[in-house]
Amino acid sequence: MRVYKFGGASVKDAAGVRNLERIVRLAINDNKTDGLMVVVSAMGKTTNALERVVEFLDAGKEEQALQQWVDIIDYHVAIMKELGLTPGTDIRLQGEIPFDPTLSHDENYDQVVSLGEIMSTQIIAVYLLKQGLSVEWWNMPKLLRTDDTWREAKVDNETSAAVIRAGWERTNRPQIVIAQGFIGGTKDGRRTTLGREGSDYTAALIGNYLDAQSVTIWKDVPGILNADPRIEPNTVLIPSLRYQDAVELSYSGAQIIHPKTIRPLENKQIPLFVKPFGDPQASGSKIAPDGVGPIDVPVYIWRKNQILITMRAKDFAFVLEESLSEIFDIIHRNRLKVSLIQSSAVTISVCVDNTRFVPAAIEELKEHFNVSYNDRLSLLTIRGTTPDILNRAKDGKTIMLSQTTRRTARLVVKE
Ligand code: ASP
Ligand code: MG
Repeated sequence: MRVYKFGGASVKDAAGVRNLERIVRLAINDNKTDGLMVVVSAMGKTTNALERVVEFLDAGKEEQALQQWVDIIDYHVAIMKELGLTPGTDIRLQGEIPFDPTLSHDENYDQVVSLGEIMSTQIIAVYLLKQGLSVEWWNMPKLLRTDDTWREAKVDNETSAAVIRAGWERTNRPQIVIAQGFIGGTKDGRRTTLGREGSDYTAALIGNYLDAQSVTIWKDVPGILNADPRIEPNTVLIPSLRYQDAVELSYSGAQIIHPKTIRPLENKQIPLFVKPFGDPQASGSKIAPDGVGPIDVPVYIWRKNQILITMRAKDFAFVLEESLSEIFDIIHRNRLKVSLIQSSAVTISVCVDNTRFVPAAIEELKEHFNVSYNDRLSLLTIRGTTPDILNRAKDGKTIMLSQTTRRTARLVVKE
């Protein structure tokens, strides 16, 4: 079987859904597949809009929350109508916002934000059915079992694999299953989310559980490029790369695939394709187990919204020797994502994503160290660099910190 994943941009309107149908038909017509699992994100920018609903409700701004909610529903209703579906008959969308003021912000977040994927998959499944395809809609909160770490739920692979395998065995083949990316559920039936942009990860997990022959992520770019085309005018496509390269690229901040995507695939040596949804016959990029050499062009990766935190010992003790485990314990417990580390005898600096968790972490670090920080930074990683390339990259930028090895340069730059 194969797994296809469609992101929000690919299903942002009715034309996108029709294009998905075209791609799905190509897959089942070429007879090479014993079934297709289609993992879908929320339509367009729905996840951001749902986040705003929760924020408004938390701030007690009920009217604004309701307006935002109505806009989201209207957006989906418009797409349904354009696809020839009848709202209320073909699909009944959630009427009320599932917000419970007695629950924590993060738990409410998951109950509300997960609806984006529920709506997109319902619309797509019913549409494909009406086009005569044999389709099953899967409700991932009942199938992908997670713990209750709201907004960043950890997947229970053993339970999920067993449930999903059994579900797949029951379906008639060859056929199509439509499932939500990004969301799962707890033992007692609460919806959870796996972290923003987590649909790729869902696709990889399902690929792993069902021993897929391949996983394909359909995107609005030709494949994996050596730089972000919005920043660099001359980009080239990387036709094939190794798992380790893909991990490094996504860890460095390349927004092409979610960093957690590779491991479940690598475990089972399943190839991952990244292809343009606008040109399904194009070869795109292949991340593959073997026969692939290192990338042979310089690769530029920006990781935005970084903060550089520097810790200095309060009493001139050697920070490194005595405090490393303490520092990293605080960082880990506060869910900071470290992108770079630099140390000297008495200081240690970490560059981390500037998330909502940073202020609390800094407070905790301040109890033990003198802490200073710089925000509004970006981390530029250049793989396959040369002195020449590096000089050009540094030109005109304010560099806060740089780390270079023979082939890789990492620059922390003011935004
Ligand atoms: N819809 C979710 C998000 O926008 C998950 C995803 O797109 O992968 O973060
Ligand atoms: Mg998305």
